[in-house]
Amino acid sequence: MTAERIAKSTIHPSIPHHLQDYDAERRAFSWDAARSALDGLPGGGLNIAHEAIDRHVARGAGAKTALRWLDKQGQPHDFSYAWLRELTNRFANVLGTLGLGKGDGVFALTGRIPFLYIAALGTLKNGSVFCPMFSAFGPEPIHQRMSIGRAKALVTTASLYQRKVAGLRTSLPDLKHVLIADLPCEAEAPEGTLNLQTLMDHASDQFTTVATVDEDLALLHFTSGTTGRPKGAMHVHGAVTAHLATARYALDLHPEDVFWCTADPGWVTGTSYGIIAPLTIGATLLVDEQEFDAERWYRTLQNEGVTVWYTAPTAIRMMMKLGADRVRQYRYPGLRFMASVGEPLNSEAVVWSNGAFGMPFHDNWWQTETGGIMIANFAACDVKPGSMGRPLPGIEAAIANLTEDGRLVFVERPDEQGELVLKAGWPSMFRGYLNEEARYRKCFVGDWYLTGDLARRDEEGYYWFVGRADDVIKTSGHLIGPFEVEDVLMEHPAVAEAGVIGKPDPVALEIVKAFVALKPGFTANEALRLELLAHARKRLGAVVAPKEIDFLPGLPKTRSGKIMRRLLKARELGLPEGDISTLEENK
Ligand code: ATP
Ligand code: MG
Repeated sequence: MTAERIAKSTIHPSIPHHLQDYDAERRAFSWDAARSALDGLPGGGLNIAHEAIDRHVARGAGAKTALRWLDKQGQPHDFSYAWLRELTNRFANVLGTLGLGKGDGVFALTGRIPFLYIAALGTLKNGSVFCPMFSAFGPEPIHQRMSIGRAKALVTTASLYQRKVAGLRTSLPDLKHVLIADLPCEAEAPEGTLNLQTLMDHASDQFTTVATVDEDLALLHFTSGTTGRPKGAMHVHGAVTAHLATARYALDLHPEDVFWCTADPGWVTGTSYGIIAPLTIGATLLVDEQEFDAERWYRTLQNEGVTVWYTAPTAIRMMMKLGADRVRQYRYPGLRFMASVGEPLNSEAVVWSNGAFGMPFHDNWWQTETGGIMIANFAACDVKPGSMGRPLPGIEAAIANLTEDGRLVFVERPDEQGELVLKAGWPSMFRGYLNEEARYRKCFVGDWYLTGDLARRDEEGYYWFVGRADDVIKTSGHLIGPFEVEDVLMEHPAVAEAGVIGKPDPVALEIVKAFVALKPGFTANEALRLELLAHARKRLGAVVAPKEIDFLPGLPKTRSGKIMRRLLKARELGLPEGDISTLEENK
């Protein structure tokens, strides 16, 4: 829905925005030039960890705080760039001693503890491939990922190991080493595992980063599983060129920033922007071990002097539910930029944040497959609430439709919807789905990558998310994106969350059905249902408005916080639930 536009931010003009003139920056941009903003390895080649840590130390910035980690009690622990260099060197040496080398899979199942970050970067230094997993996964998704990814080593904690991994060992023949990260040095590790701290203490703090090149595999990331079984997207060291460039443009990150990305590295956002991008820029990365808690988050923003904040719509909706007054109990003098990713950010949320924080959340769009931000609302440009923004410099996007004979027909007219496609060739693009070559090939027509998302572009070049191709509703000859309907339901003061599906119907093919969770203080009853139906009809018209609304205490979501519409649909129709390995309540 088009709400009023929010004029470009004028806060802290003393820090010049990386992107000042959108069109000029796009014209001037080249990926080759972006690549040359990196140092490369001293002997040639490119390695993410070198760009993220060692080059800052070599330039004399070793004393600067690279990582500020808040433990569960909220106590800060600082790791300088120099110390992180030493720790990741030790970790890389540990891997080497265990016989792990280039291309070998190192997985992590730890929660957000310092060793997760040390393991990620140490693995990359060693030329091995890193795959982070959500610590809340149950044994089945852990097994699935480690066997597809042929994990040779796993970094985990004693309790996670005993509860979730020990029973899987015999069915994971490739898994040679389990490193327990939370034991004191020299403490005995569970049978069949090693004490990581002991190994670290005995390892050398000197390491020569393995000479990887741009196309060498670096990371394996599983998709969120919102639309089906998660896919393993493979990423290369060259991706760091895009991490750096996109973080500058879309997050306006500078070396002087204290950057908080609330995503867990189990989700690609938590690695591309929760580890690699801020360190490559030379900023201070804030990590909170604790899960979402509005009060703690506001306190953290205030006390840690966060300047740039990157979070997701679910968290924003939870904050909205609690109200703007809670936000205003704290002060955020340093905060200058807020961004959101992962799901459509309702226009309501953008407007709300502008009131509550004095600046809007800037929505941006990307996928596990794209490895980095592709479309964004920029700090120096007007924000259109409800729009994902415009393609980054270096990214060519278009709206197109795939014909039955496999051709792409581009939509030129503004506001017409179709599939969002991207011209292949940016450095963080995935290089394949693990063990799913055919599925990977199906994503491309010529040199265009098909995202599987439907969108439209307005006459100013801003993109508007319509829905995932799988979620689009076909009703009485119309195509309706669920987001449009959800967005209008969210406008109603009683609605905290909304999920919309197409329910099969003999006459209309499908009818629009909405599931709604209410804010505190509102009661689910017939009167409210009728009120919501009327509100939607008034705003959307009879064709697009939902015909049915059900109330739910909360909507099913992935661990990365996305509403699982396919699950709402399966449950509504009494069909099998399919792969629910990433479902949040599935502990
Ligand atoms: P799967 O591919 O396994 O179904 P997923 O697509 O949710 O899961 P991710 O790669 O984590 O896995 O998410 C990318 C998707 O999230 C995008 O394709 C899009 O549908 C949605 N998304 C991300 N950011 C936005 C945004 N700003 N607005 C709307 N949708 C978004
Ligand atoms: Mg996807």
